[in-house]
Amino acid sequence: MINLHNHTTWSDGRLTPQQLAEAAAVAGLTHIGITDHYLTRKLTHGHKCVDLHRLLDYIVEIRLLAKWYTGMKVLAGLEIDFSARTDLKPLLASQLLNQLDYVLFEYVADAEWYGYPLDDLLVIRSQITVPVGLAHNPLARNFELLLDAEDLVAILEDNAIFVELCPARRNAVFAPDGRPVLPYRYPTPYNEALWNAFSRSQVLFSIGSDAHHNAAEVAELSDAWEFLRECNLLDHLVTERYWK
Ligand SMILES: [Zn+2]
Repeated sequence: MINLHNHTTWSDGRLTPQQLAEAAAVAGLTHIGITDHYLTRKLTHGHKCVDLHRLLDYIVEIRLLAKWYTGMKVLAGLEIDFSARTDLKPLLASQLLNQLDYVLFEYVADAEWYGYPLDDLLVIRSQITVPVGLAHNPLARNFELLLDAEDLVAILEDNAIFVELCPARRNAVFAPDGRPVLPYRYPTPYNEALWNAFSRSQVLFSIGSDAHHNAAEVAELSDAWEFLRECNLLDHLVTERYWK
């Protein structure tokens, strides 16, 4: 089991990185990723973010923590709000993103959150040399009117962008019939076509619970795991490719 999407006291999470890693070790995870929020105007009222001046300290702290664990890999990630709420230019210019293990972008092509389009991510993709993924993206909802499922999968494959499955209820979306569903289980023909195309592709997948509050959340991963197993995609995990 892996969990590559978690928040700590570096941003709006309640657990310290050490408490988070301990929860992951107790749960028997092989990989735990820390992905605090990079500075975004989404988080203002009293919430911290990792800003450019703290980014190196953040990475160093995670690297030191990682040394404590032999049976589990502790990875340094960062979650970027891909919208006008984030000032990306100085971050890209600093090259610090490339000191991380990976970068997650949230709200890509998400109209509800005024996310920038996928094309904008493709423009900056080559400046990031570490793995890049889409955090908890309701792909079928965001892309159904924009791209054929096969074309979306081809773009993600060509640009080496991985897809995170987040089984947390807080990231559920409303299906066309009004029921809340997890994004990857969105019950439409487009989503079915999308996952069929994924299973024929080289696109990689991650699992992340987007934990913010407690140790139990760190281990709430089984639905995403089960879904990837149903799709025969467990051998397409990012961890298999990059951090075996
Ligand atoms: Zn998050």
